[in-house]
Parts: sequence; C-alpha cells; structure tokens
Amino acid sequence: MEEEQEPSSSAYSGGKTMKQCESMIQKGLQTPMVRFLRERLEKAGCPVANNFFKAINCEADVSGGYIRGEGIIVCMNKIDLQDEVNQVLAHELIHAYDDCRAANLDWTDCAHHACSEIRSNHLSGDCHYKRELLRGYLKIRGHEQDCIRRRVLASLSGNPYCSEAAAKDAMESIWDVCYNDTQPFDRAP
Ligand SMILES: [Zn+2]
Repeated sequence: MEEEQEPSSSAYSGGKTMKQCESMIQKGLQTPMVRFLRERLEKAGCPVANNFFKAINCEADVSGGYIRGEGIIVCMNKIDLQDEVNQVLAHELIHAYDDCRAANLDWTDCAHHACSEIRSNHLSGDCHYKRELLRGYLKIRGHEQDCIRRRVLASLSGNPYCSEAAAKDAMESIWDVCYNDTQPFDRAP
C-alpha cells in the first residue's frame, strides 16, 4: 500500500543515499511506537525481521509502502527527516498488522483498503497537528479528521481498483467503525 507523497515538511527535498536511509530505518526501529507495533505483530503470529524493512529508490511520488509478503519500503529519494522515516515505519506496520489479523483482507477492495488507511493515518500520528503545520495546513479545528480523510483518499488514488467516487463512498461508509478501531492500541496514541 503505497502512500502518496504530501508537501514535504522540509524546505528542500533532496532525498538520502541508500546508506543514510538504511541507518535512518535502523534508528526508526528503536522508537517506542515502532517497537510496540513489532511486538504486537509477533504476538499476533506475524513477526517481522529487520530485513523486512528496505530503503528503495521510488519512481512514484510516494514516501513508502507495505507489500504483502515482501516487506516495508522507505523511499530514500523522497524522505529527508528522521521523523518522516519514523512515520512511514509506524504507518506501514499498521497495514502489516491489519494484514496479519484479518486473513481475508483484500487490498483490491476499496472498503478494506480505506479501513486500513483510516487506521494507519489515525494511529501512527500522521495527522498530529504539529505535522500538519509543517505541511502548511494551518486549519486547526477539525484538522485531524480532515487530515485523515485527505490522506486516505490520496492513498486510495493509487489503487487501480478504486475510482475516486468509490473511494469516497467506501471511506464514509466505514469511517466510524475503522476510526474507532484502535487495535493494537488501547486507544489512539
Ligand atoms: Zn497507508
């Protein structure tokens, strides 16, 4: 599940070398959020080893992605800050967790994909207001849910099986259930 790239939080977008990106990934693996998600994946029967995470040069305008059975990629040419890498790791691990806990998850199904995007954008902290300010979105009231909706639709636009209208319908129809589903967290972190 690839993530559409958003306005960068840094002034320039120079990207990183593979080596730099790999060491940022290693650093990111030490953050509490990423460690917690890996623990929960292991408990759920889907442990992910260190080689599950890869630095890749991405052609599409995405910051990272999760590919079932293959791993999590971080787009070294699209990221600059450690925080961006940490976010990609947490976000994609939530997709991996959803894939693990639901045997019948079908990524070509707009509603399934939308649900996982709602959860990963909500629970990873992608829409924390400080990150939104850095992206240049200055609206505070209702910012979090607006931000999640915007990012869900951006990700779904990369799904060839979901038209724009189908993506919107799917997102709204499952919003409450998926927004309130905070597993593996007790509540939204
Ligand atoms: Zn995603």
